[in-house]
Amino acid sequence: MSTPQYDIAIIGGGPVGAALALALRDSSLSVCVLEARPANTASNDARALALSYGSRLLLARLGVWDTLRDVSAIRTIHISQKQSFGRTELHATELNVPELGYVLPYPALQDALTNALQHSKVATIFGASVTQLSNSYDQAVISYQQDGTAHALQTRLAVVADGGKLMAQQYPPEVHDYGQSALITHITCSAPQANTAFERFTPQGPLALLPFQNGYELVWTAPHQAAQEMLAWDNAKFLHELHSHFGDRVGEFLSVGKRTCFPLSLRRAPQQTPMPHTVLLGNAAQTMHPVAGQGFNMGLRDAWELAQEILDAASELLGSEAMLATYRAHRHTDREAGIRFTDGLVRLFSNDLPLVNAGRAAALTALDCLPFAKKFVAKRMMFGANG
Ligand SMILES: Cc1cc2nc3c(=O)[nH]c(=O)nc-3n(C[C@H](O)[C@H](O)[C@H](O)COP(=O)(O)OP(=O)(O)OC[C@H]3O[C@@H](n4cnc5c(N)ncnc54)[C@H](O)[C@@H]3O)c2cc1C
Repeated sequence: MSTPQYDIAIIGGGPVGAALALALRDSSLSVCVLEARPANTASNDARALALSYGSRLLLARLGVWDTLRDVSAIRTIHISQKQSFGRTELHATELNVPELGYVLPYPALQDALTNALQHSKVATIFGASVTQLSNSYDQAVISYQQDGTAHALQTRLAVVADGGKLMAQQYPPEVHDYGQSALITHITCSAPQANTAFERFTPQGPLALLPFQNGYELVWTAPHQAAQEMLAWDNAKFLHELHSHFGDRVGEFLSVGKRTCFPLSLRRAPQQTPMPHTVLLGNAAQTMHPVAGQGFNMGLRDAWELAQEILDAASELLGSEAMLATYRAHRHTDREAGIRFTDGLVRLFSNDLPLVNAGRAAALTALDCLPFAKKFVAKRMMFGANG
């Protein structure tokens, strides 16, 4: 039997890989997605994602935005620092956008994207766990396991969107371990502030409350050991400690859902993948700390721009080094700016040095008084550096 052949093969049908496939679905190219999850199995990922207004616009262009369920809007972002008076607020009205962003569960986004894929001509192969990527003369060769059987396919461009494992051994990413984990859960409180997200910087690490349904999705970062202890606290202790950490802005914390922990690091794959006919996308290209909610938002911009590059490429250049170099050049500024912004926030705010503390408080207050600076920061968060 001859080896199946596709123009584009996407490894990983997570939110970023699926978005790329959807951006290509109406082209004349043959596209397949290889996804390790079995068919008709909902993702059980506990993460909630904060999507930027820019991501909303891209998801609308992909025809997915209106199909999303369980979305809560963010119209105000309140940023503060523990043990200081400095604080700033960003408002959608000041920036002339209806909303600054949105909060939804990762599985809700994944379901909507998967559903759209299944109604397209993209070949989505579920239960397909890719084990190896290699290349022959002018093609990439993908080996995968499905139902205990080995399969292979050839493609002019292999897009690695698997979250980062497949290539890491062969081409190790640059890694900076923050020494922190993010504990995430849903909480309710006595005085929720409608459509307001809170970002609070503490010496232990940042803490975010993202408005969602009847309460907030909490992202509470702390050193690994402390986060493990927080997982084990009983509910009463957890709610009490959260209150002393966060303060009174949303009243008393009343209930807490199931808690899950994610270890956090900055991982950036080598800019240029040494393997021909291959490109890394989304978390496989860069995994960031969730402090600024940039990971998926940047991955979606990666996917959108790669799709434009693919659609614009002359047929003989599809998957060529020339095409991939153009894509990398277009993504360079946004990618570097997003990584530096996120990494800078974590490093600047995760310490307790008195002088730095006073400087940060002054900077937050100054930001609050400078509409131009506020607009700059908010635009970066909503649309990225190319936006
Ligand atoms: C606690 C936390 C909070 C976050 N909050 C935000 C936020 O508010 N906003 C934001 O923008 N980002 C946020 N992020 C980042 C965001 O979750 C990621 O950037 C996003 O999930 C990346 O999507 P992806 O498709 O690249 O990878 P993934 O989501 O990791 O998806 C990879 C897919 O590939 C499949 N796969 C893996 N290996 C294989 C294989 N060998 N063969 C076939 N398929 C495979 C997996 O099953 C999966 O479906 C957060 C991250 C964390 C940890």
